[in-house]
Amino acid sequence: MSGTRSGIWRAIWNGLLLRCPRCGEGRIFRTRWEMHPRCPACGLGFERAEGDFLGAIVVAYGVTSILIAAGAYALAALTELSGDVQVAIWAAVGTLFLFLFYRNMKGIWIGILYLMTGRSGSP
Ligand SMILES: [Zn+2]
Repeated sequence: MSGTRSGIWRAIWNGLLLRCPRCGEGRIFRTRWEMHPRCPACGLGFERAEGDFLGAIVVAYGVTSILIAAGAYALAALTELSGDVQVAIWAAVGTLFLFLFYRNMKGIWIGILYLMTGRSGSP
């Protein structure tokens, strides 16, 4: 059981950095929007099922919500902006965040999927 916990974080961390959760060598994305079907280094399959896309959305939505909630509290505490202005700011930030970091969310989800499904039979 040694290294199990660090293995979990490493898989998610690799995903965040757009690297293969198993080997950390291969890249998940071939271009900005196109994924490799398998890890170029170790052959781990990245696109497992149709539901993968949904999982990435759930991760992205969750992370964005936490970010916006934390940011909104901080902004409300530190500034005197009206509610309308704050909503506009955070809607823009949320959209931008999703646009810029969608691949990283998807990478995290690939790491989670790997942890849930890819470990069987491997050391
Ligand atoms: Zn790999």
